[in-house]
Amino acid sequence: MTRDSQCFSPPAFPDRLPRMILVINSGSSSIKFALYESPNQKLTLGGIAESLHTPQSVLKHRFHQIDETTPLPHADHQTALEQIITLLRSKFGEPALTGIGHRVVHGGDFFGKPTLIGKQVVQKIETLCELAPLHNPANLLGIRAMQTLFPGVPQFAVFDTAFHQTMPPKAFRYAVPEAFYRDHGVRRYGAHGTSHEFVANRAAEILERPLAELQLITVHLGNGCSACAIRDGRSADTTMGFTPQEGMMMGTRSGDVDPTLHHYLATKTGESLEAITQKLTRESGLLGVSELTNDCRELELRANAGHEKARFALELFCYRAAKHVLGMAAALSRLDALVFTGGIGENSPFIRRTIVGHLAMLGLNLVPAANESNGQHTNGQISTGDGPSVLVVKTDEELAIARQTADLVSGGQ
Ligand code: ADP
Repeated sequence: MTRDSQCFSPPAFPDRLPRMILVINSGSSSIKFALYESPNQKLTLGGIAESLHTPQSVLKHRFHQIDETTPLPHADHQTALEQIITLLRSKFGEPALTGIGHRVVHGGDFFGKPTLIGKQVVQKIETLCELAPLHNPANLLGIRAMQTLFPGVPQFAVFDTAFHQTMPPKAFRYAVPEAFYRDHGVRRYGAHGTSHEFVANRAAEILERPLAELQLITVHLGNGCSACAIRDGRSADTTMGFTPQEGMMMGTRSGDVDPTLHHYLATKTGESLEAITQKLTRESGLLGVSELTNDCRELELRANAGHEKARFALELFCYRAAKHVLGMAAALSRLDALVFTGGIGENSPFIRRTIVGHLAMLGLNLVPAANESNGQHTNGQISTGDGPSVLVVKTDEELAIARQTADLVSGGQ
């Protein structure tokens, strides 16, 4: 969508004022925020309001390398966002915002690129809530609150699904009756696109080759987990599907299960389909299998201390992740690099080592010391030899959203 098609003109600010881009990533229980000096995207203030709706709600922020935490017991999204804006104003007065970028998880097939938010866009995001019930409603809360607080500032939605709009039909269609697709939009959309695209670009920089010439598999392992096959700089396939529930085992999400499971469990237990979906979404994955926690770091500690279910949850997580990585290889003709990112992918040598251990046929050759230090001293490279590179790349979805927002503000799309 071009700037003109949205009748949008960037606001005129006096040159002496810093031009700032605010990024809001409003999730179900947390809100990440970051303020960038545009156009060079220098981070000036950032943080997170987390554990919302609980007595432990807090606002953490970093300003000039100094971290501060403010308790916000029982804060909801609106309260947390107001606190974030109060914080902003305490540091910058009335910040000269040229644009606000919002992360939106599900854009269906309506949105193939970042989009200026108007009434119709909000309505579309609303209708897509049924495809991402954990995420889109929270994203909308952030959008609405910011529209109220900054009515004159243009706001943009950056969609997690947009990067995957380049998938060919053989990757995005399911083998179900055509009418499901035609009448109900039942197809694979993918998610985490902003992260996959960001780390792919960074991988190209590390490898000193144009992204358009590379064939990559990027593996985002955080609370949500997905892999993406990237060919010619575009998403060729990904593991999340109609919703961000498909694919890999995740923190609390099951990932792939047999399609008849809902019917079987509903018949067996008398539970509603909704209750079963809830269990597969919020009570499965690492949490469900370990019966302990969805926190991977904690599970590693417990597994090392002899906790069998923690050990098994991690074993299952890695094996299933490796199967999905190999599935992505079907979309490529060769592999130049396997790229790990996300909280787990960036920080867990054990998880990377175990997944790579299941991928012997890809000819990956990990360097143990580089893997142990998360590639910190080797520019992200943790492999050697003639085979595909293995990289650890820190994702930065907020920076990616800021860059895309700045592009739209300046009309440089
Ligand atoms: P989100 O998807 O919510 O953005 P993150 O990408 O921050 O989540 O990932 C959170 C996950 O990363 C948690 O399971 C956490 O335990 C895991 N993690 C963070 N640091 C480590 C570490 N050093 N070792 C293992 N897991 C880690």
